[in-house]
Amino acid sequence: MSTDFKKLLPENAAHFINNSWVSSKSSDPVTNPATGETIAQVAMGSKADADKAVAAAKKAQKKWAAVPQPQRAEYLYEFARQIEKNKKTLATLLTTEQGKPLAESEGEVDTAILMLRFYAGLGWKRTGHVLASNHPHHQAITKESPLGVVAAIIPWNFPLAIFARKTAPALLAGNTIVVKPSENTPLCSLALATLSHAAGIPNGVINVICGEGSKVGDALVKHPDVELVTMTGSTRAGKIIAKNAAEKVIPVSLELGGKAPFIVLADADIEKAAQDAIDARMANCGQVCICNERTYIQREAYEPFMRALKKAAEKIIVGDPLAKKTTMGPKVSAAEKEHVEELLAQTKKEGGNIFWQGKIPDAKKFKGGNWVAPTIVTDLPAHATILKEEAFGPILPVVVFDTIDEVIRLANDCEYGLSSYLYTRDLLSAMQISDALEYGEVYINRYGPEEINGFHAGWKLSGIGGDDGEHGYQLYVKQKTVYLNYQS
Ligand code: NAD
Repeated sequence: MSTDFKKLLPENAAHFINNSWVSSKSSDPVTNPATGETIAQVAMGSKADADKAVAAAKKAQKKWAAVPQPQRAEYLYEFARQIEKNKKTLATLLTTEQGKPLAESEGEVDTAILMLRFYAGLGWKRTGHVLASNHPHHQAITKESPLGVVAAIIPWNFPLAIFARKTAPALLAGNTIVVKPSENTPLCSLALATLSHAAGIPNGVINVICGEGSKVGDALVKHPDVELVTMTGSTRAGKIIAKNAAEKVIPVSLELGGKAPFIVLADADIEKAAQDAIDARMANCGQVCICNERTYIQREAYEPFMRALKKAAEKIIVGDPLAKKTTMGPKVSAAEKEHVEELLAQTKKEGGNIFWQGKIPDAKKFKGGNWVAPTIVTDLPAHATILKEEAFGPILPVVVFDTIDEVIRLANDCEYGLSSYLYTRDLLSAMQISDALEYGEVYINRYGPEEINGFHAGWKLSGIGGDDGEHGYQLYVKQKTVYLNYQS
């Protein structure tokens, strides 16, 4: 295994504060999810460390906001160039730390670059509006202002892309940021911190503080100088963060769980729908918030669809995520693996039938890894737990339906509302069903991912606020209205 990525990491367990490595009193091992081996020790921060990071970000913020917006954009371009120069190293680090296959990691590095470039591309955009006034020779102007210090609390499933997704708009708007990576994948954030330094981003503008969510994450949310919390993660943690932020009356943006329905009407291109159903479930070992969490197939097409689904599933190669031919790696952690195994056991107890199951690697070096076999289950009762709770793993439940009204009801009978999928060749059905789906995203005849100029925002328990595009950018600014009288 190449450990070239160590050149992007601190020598000892440390946080990244004010463009320097700041050591921490305690540390924890970060493990390779494919083997269980320790990759590095990482700092486990305290409230005092969070305070230091916020103080550095606050000190830097006014000066950063004074840099003209097009010039702040130039820093983002340079950050993207540094990431591009280190693409292979970052992809290897991501695969080693998180477990996704190398090709997916390379794709994620590209996404991080795209996110930085997208927001850099808005460097010359307008920063306000001139409003009509009801008085002669009067004018009103709304102007965007940065919020101040942003806390970005990020998960482990896309640790590079989500770092860039939150940092790019925050910095373009003139905020400074403290990033709190997941306990499972802190190294990716630290490597990006190194590259932000190489890009010449000034001291204190980007800070990374590692440790537990309930300690450092919590301390950041409650810190009086943090003016926005943008978090991607579970609904459980999102609710705690929202309550704490409400005490301070500050905005929060929460990207939380999902339970995407994947609806296939009988007139769809069945081969494509089946292949996409597998890809949308199994990507990143099922650990994507927009994953196909439950497939609904119309009865007339059940047989051909299941044949095509099995054919697509049999192409999955579970194995060493660093090997070129691998298409599925391990789950990120032992806790995540146990969660999926328990859900599968529960599914069987509730009457689910294993329609197909893949294999996990049996080589000795993978014995300590968090492997879960990709699985398709059928014959589920309507109340089955797997149709309600987020699986976030490679288990695909398939349900048969008869009518469009029935499938809309089944799809919407869910406390989440992030993404949904619909496969049909009929334009009227496509548009009518998409109008009826209570989801922030509808993908018709295509699998994700979402695009950078869209608005990635969940309805219901999937979140508030959102990321990406111009809508996402608006969360990082506040508006000031200036009323001007120039009557002589
Ligand atoms: P998690 O909620 O356990 O952790 C996410 C982050 O929140 C971590 O950095 C964690 O340390 C921090 N955190 C936890 N408790 C906290 C607290 N009390 N205060 C402050 N910070 C706290 O989630 P996870 O296991 O890392 O990620 C998996 C979940 O994330 C899934 O449910 C998935 O659907 C969701 N997710 C959503 C999106 C999206 O765009 N909607 C994207 C990726 C992941």
